[in-house]
Amino acid sequence: MDFNDTPEEAAFRAKVRAWLAANAEPKRGDAGGQGTGVGESMTEDDVRAAKAWQRRKAEAGWACLRWPKEYGGQGASAIEQVIWNQEEAKVRTPEDIFGITHGMCAPTVMTHGTEEQKRRWIPGMLTGENVWCQLFSEPAAGSDLAGLRTTAVRDGDDWILNGQKIWTTGAQIADWGIIVVRSDPTVPKHKGLTYFVVDMHGPGVEVRPIHQINGGRAFNEVFFTDVRVPDAQRLDAVGNGWRVALTTLMNERASIGGGGGGAAIGDLIALARRIEVDGRRAIDESAVRERLADFLVRARGLKYTGYRTLTALSQGRIPGPEASLGKLVGAVLGQDMAAFGIELQGMAGGAHDPGVSADGGAWQERYLGFPGLRIAGGTDEVLRNIIAERVLGLPPEIRVDKNVPFAEVPTGSG
Ligand SMILES: Cc1cc2nc3c(=O)[nH]c(=O)nc-3n(C[C@H](O)[C@H](O)[C@H](O)COP(=O)(O)OP(=O)(O)OC[C@H]3O[C@@H](n4cnc5c(N)ncnc54)[C@H](O)[C@@H]3O)c2cc1C
Repeated sequence: MDFNDTPEEAAFRAKVRAWLAANAEPKRGDAGGQGTGVGESMTEDDVRAAKAWQRRKAEAGWACLRWPKEYGGQGASAIEQVIWNQEEAKVRTPEDIFGITHGMCAPTVMTHGTEEQKRRWIPGMLTGENVWCQLFSEPAAGSDLAGLRTTAVRDGDDWILNGQKIWTTGAQIADWGIIVVRSDPTVPKHKGLTYFVVDMHGPGVEVRPIHQINGGRAFNEVFFTDVRVPDAQRLDAVGNGWRVALTTLMNERASIGGGGGGAAIGDLIALARRIEVDGRRAIDESAVRERLADFLVRARGLKYTGYRTLTALSQGRIPGPEASLGKLVGAVLGQDMAAFGIELQGMAGGAHDPGVSADGGAWQERYLGFPGLRIAGGTDEVLRNIIAERVLGLPPEIRVDKNVPFAEVPTGSG
C-alpha cells in the first residue's frame, strides 16, 4: 500500500483544492457535528441548496468525475474521484441528496440501460435536476429481496404495476425511482423479476412518510396502484431483474462504505477534554482514556482497511466482497462512540436538544441514526453471511426455496 499521492495525483488535488477554496467555506472541526445521513428531514430550502451546489459543480466540470464524457462526466480515474471526495468532505456543503442517485441508480442505468435510456436520464442526474430513489424493499422482502411481491403485468407497450414498497429513502423528493418487480410468479424467485425506471410523479404512485425515532422523515412507504410504465422504461431483459438488482446492491455497499463510523473520533476526544467529572477533566480519568484509546484503535483499523479499497481502485482493481467489512465494523463503531459521547455528558446526555446538548445534540442524533445504518444496505447478519461465504469460503446457507416456482413457495400465512 502506498498512501502518498503520485505527482499527477498531487497536481490534481491542488486543482481541486483551489476550486473548492474559491467556491466553499472550510469546515470547522471534523464530522462530529454531522448526523448519519439517514435520519434527517429535508426542507424545500435544503433540497434547493443541494441542487444548486450540484449544478455549480456540474457547470465547472467537477460533478460525477468518473462518468464518461459523452454523458457530462470527465472520464476521470477512480482515484481522482476519491481525491475529489476527500477534499469536498473538508468544506461546508449542503446536505447531499444525490447519494442514491449517483451511487446506485446512475451506475445501474449505465451498466444495463440502452444508449437512448442513458441519454434520457444520466444528464439530469449529473446536473442535479433530478433526484432518484431505490424501490426495492417490501414489507415481506428485505434481506430476502428476491421474495418481493409487487407485480408487473404486460399490457401492450406498457406494464401495469401493483404492490407496495417500504423504507424508500428520499421518495418524497424523488422524480424517478428504480424498481424491481415480479413479472413471472411461475418460475423460481430470482428468475421471475424485471427491473424498471418509474416516474415518481405519475398517476397511481402514492408516497407516505415514515416518522423516525430521531424525529426525521427521510424514508417512506410507496404504494403502486395500476401504475402504467412504458416498456421503454424497462432496464435489461424481461426476467433479468435480479442481475440488474445485483449491480445496484454492489454499488450500494461500495457507496455506503464505512458509514462514516470512525469519523467523529476527533470530536469525541475534544468532548472528553471539555467535560468535567467531579471537578476533573473527563479525559484525565484512566477509564475514559481506555475507552477513547479503544475507539481510536478501531477507527484507525477502519481507516486503513478503507485504504485497501483505495489501493485496489488506484491499481485498477474492483474491490471485492471484503468491502462489506467497512459497513459492518463502521456502523457498530459509530453507534458505540455516540453512546459514549452521551455517557460523557452525564445526566444531561438524556436530553436531545440542539440548544442545550453538547455539540448541538450531535451525539444524540448519531446514537438514534446509527441503528438504521446497521440495517440499510444489508443488515449486520447478512453482511456476516457474505463475509463467511464469499471471503472465508465457509459452506453456504441452506436455501429451501431454491428452484421452487415462486407461486408454490409457502407464504406462512396459512
Ligand atoms: C435507514 C434505512 C434506509 C433504507 N433505505 C432503503 C431504500 O432507499 N430503498 C429500499 O429499497 N430499502 C431501503 N431500506 C431497507 C433495507 O434495505 C432493509 O431494511 C434491509 O434490507 C433489511 O430488511 P428488513 O428490514 O425487511 O429486515 P429482515 O430481512 O426481515 O430482517 C429481520 C432480521 O432478521 C435477520 N436476518 C434476515 N435474514 C437473515 C439470514 N439469512 N441470516 C441471518 N439473519 C438474517 C436480519 O439481520 C434482521 O436482524 C432502508 C433501511 C434503512 C434502515
